Amino acid sequence: MSPEHRVPLCVFCRKHPVEAKWRPFCSERCKLQDLAHWADGTYRVAAEPVNPAVEVGDDNEDNF
Ligand SMILES: [Zn+2]
Repeated sequence: MSPEHRVPLCVFCRKHPVEAKWRPFCSERCKLQDLAHWADGTYRVAAEPVNPAVEVGDDNEDNF
């Protein structure tokens, strides 16, 4: 076991150890790139559980 493995890696590049200043990233560059991805819509936020089945079921209620 190498002591290096105890250092958490940057959540963006997963290559460089996390710098306390830019936690949880290794550098400002990775932090900005990560934010850029979010703004770009590359990542999907799972905070909004959209269930299409519920919306469809709502339409079936009074259909006659
Ligand atoms: Zn990084």
